[in-house]
Amino acid sequence: MHPPGADTVLIRYGEIGVKSSQLQQRLEQLLQQNLTSVLRASGIPDVIRRERTRLYVETTPERIQSVTETVTQVPGVVSASQAVRTDATLAAIKAKLVETAAEAIDTGTFAVRARRAGEKAVHPFTSTELERNGGAAVIEALQEQEHTPTVDLEQPDTTLFIECREDDAYVFLDKRAGPGGLPVGSQEPMVALLSGGIDSPVAAWSVMKRGCPVYPVYIDLGEYGGVDHRTRALETAERLSEFAPNWHHPVRVVPGGPGITRIVEETDSLRMAVLRRFMFRIAELIAEDVGAVGIVTGESIGQKSSQTSAMLSVTSEVTTLPLIRPLVTLDKTEIVDKAKAIGTYRDSTISAGCNRVAPDRPATKPSLSVVCDAEPDDIAELAREAVANARLVNAEEFMRA
Ligand code: ATP
Ligand code: MG
Repeated sequence: MHPPGADTVLIRYGEIGVKSSQLQQRLEQLLQQNLTSVLRASGIPDVIRRERTRLYVETTPERIQSVTETVTQVPGVVSASQAVRTDATLAAIKAKLVETAAEAIDTGTFAVRARRAGEKAVHPFTSTELERNGGAAVIEALQEQEHTPTVDLEQPDTTLFIECREDDAYVFLDKRAGPGGLPVGSQEPMVALLSGGIDSPVAAWSVMKRGCPVYPVYIDLGEYGGVDHRTRALETAERLSEFAPNWHHPVRVVPGGPGITRIVEETDSLRMAVLRRFMFRIAELIAEDVGAVGIVTGESIGQKSSQTSAMLSVTSEVTTLPLIRPLVTLDKTEIVDKAKAIGTYRDSTISAGCNRVAPDRPATKPSLSVVCDAEPDDIAELAREAVANARLVNAEEFMRA
């Protein structure tokens, strides 16, 4: 619900506010750029105004809903409110409160909550006076109604919020949660291994939420993979790019087939450990090439035999880059819920990942030396060759084609 004539989306951000003021400015600017890019990608022309501690999208009542839905998906946004702007005078604020109350309050109780954000006090009233005067104005105006609304400061049915800045004031009725986190681009990038499954896009999204741009990498498993995997991987990459179009990188599709065929020929119970290390070698080479500082995967402890805690350990060892596994402690149901929330889940989601390569009796607790011995001698060369033959695929173009 929003006030009649709501014309501004007020955006709050979190952790940015606790940084040094120089860094804070840089982060605010970055969030503003990212939000602008997301709005443009959705065909929304509105301008975003930046004031200390808040960003404001100046929009129209027609667009306010789509602007709100769009901005509350953007990493760094803690919450947003659909507000109506007015002058920062008692008379103007009271008028907007009354208009809003007439629409929003039916029979229940209400409260007015006011705060003066940002600048030092420049108004001839305090927040408390604003709340008292505002509440009284609402009661007076709505007296004629069948049920005169009553004030309940503890558990009101409706809360009328006022946020007063130096020149402008905003009236709104609720706060919609965003993802929180940090604006994409505030951290160094990572390579994200995307399999076409449910987990890996959620993992990639998680580091985006903490400010990292991602370089998506899909490893084509040759005869053990499939177009279905690749299509899903590209689809999920495209969805991820919508959270930060200005930080978009095309998907690197790496032909892993020759290497994987060799691995399948030469290994049995250790195959999954060797395969995952092969993938990490590929990811590391790409990270070096693009200047990424870590590798993100959708692995979770014990989700399958290739993801036992012991396996996570022997596979991590192959690279000096940090392996970031944001889902490591999540249950599948929790991951699915997140995938639905970020829009990367499909009901028809195929069983992607490396299932088709798995041996009948995979080792779940192999020692590092045994795994290293099992690797084809030229594994590093196989990884280099695969990366040298990688194709850059623009997911968006691919999906439209
Ligand atoms: P997902 O985790 O993607 O839903 P899954 O659980 O079937 O699929 P596994 O086969 O166990 O995944 O792979 C674990 C992780 O390894 C994936 O989360 C992904 O990060 C990475 N990975 C697996 N297969 C591929 C691939 N073909 N290309 C790129 N990365 C992959
Ligand atoms: Mg998985």
